[in-house]
Amino acid sequence: MLDPYNRKINYLRISVTDRCNLRCRYCMPEDGVCMLKHKDIISYEEIQKVVKIAVSLGIDKIRLTGGEPLVRKDIVELVRMIAEVDGVKDLAITTNGVLLEKFAQPLAQSGLQRINVSLDTLDAEKFTQITRGGNLYSVLKGIEAAQKAGLHPVKINCVIEQSSDEPDALAVKQYCAENGLQVRFIHQMDLSSGHFSIVEGGSGGDCAHCNRLRLTPTGKMKPCLFSDLEFDIREMGIKGAIEAALLAKPEKGTINLSNCFHNIGG
Ligand code: SF4
Repeated sequence: MLDPYNRKINYLRISVTDRCNLRCRYCMPEDGVCMLKHKDIISYEEIQKVVKIAVSLGIDKIRLTGGEPLVRKDIVELVRMIAEVDGVKDLAITTNGVLLEKFAQPLAQSGLQRINVSLDTLDAEKFTQITRGGNLYSVLKGIEAAQKAGLHPVKINCVIEQSSDEPDALAVKQYCAENGLQVRFIHQMDLSSGHFSIVEGGSGGDCAHCNRLRLTPTGKMKPCLFSDLEFDIREMGIKGAIEAALLAKPEKGTINLSNCFHNIGG
C-alpha cells in the first residue's frame, strides 16, 4: 500500500506490552511509570486479526516490540499465531535479551526468523548502571543462544549519546565483528522535543523512505512514531484504523506528547 507521499508501507511494528524487566535511563523515568491496565491490552487473537487484515492490505513485514516483549505471557504462542498467517514474509522481534537464553529456541521453532538485541556497552558495571540493575552476562548468553537457535540475522541495537565513535560503541562494534553480528547505532531520541536521527546501519528515522505503521499495546494504530495521531482498532474496526493511519501518515515526524518509548516500542 502507498501512503499520501507515495511511500510503500509494508512494515508493521507491534508493541505487545508496556512492561519491561529493565529500567533503562533513556527510556524509563527514575520514578517508574504508570502501567497500562490489563483490560486495555489487546489480546493475541486481536493481534492475529490485525496481522491478517494488514497483510491483505500490503503489509508483509512484522516486528514485535514492547516494553520488553519476552515478559508478556505465552509470547512464543503469539509468534506461532503470526508466523502461520499467509503473506507474512519477515517476522522479527526486538528484545533486551535478558530472557533470551530461555526463549531463543522455542521462538525459532515457532517461526521467528530474526532478532534485534539491545546492547549499549560491554562494561558490566556500566550496563547495570544504564539499565538500572540489568546483568550484562545474561544478555550475552541470550545472543549466543539466538545464534545457536538459527535466528538470522542477529542484529545488535546500540544506543549512543553523540557518536558511534564513543568507546562503548566501538567496543560493541568490535564484539559484533568478532561474533558475526550486525550492529546498528541508534542516537538517543526525545519524543516530546521531536529530536531524532536516522539509525546508523538501519532504516529507522529515515522519513523520506518510511515504510511503517505501529500498533500500540492498547490497539491504537499509529501513522508515525513522532506524531500524536492514533486510530483505535476497537472503535474504528481494524481495516478502518489501518486505512486511517495510512492516510494520516505525515511527510516527516514532528513530536509525540501522548506516548512513551516503553509503550510504543521505539
Ligand atoms: S519519524 Fe515518522 S515518518 Fe519519520 S521514519 Fe519515523 S515513523 Fe516514519
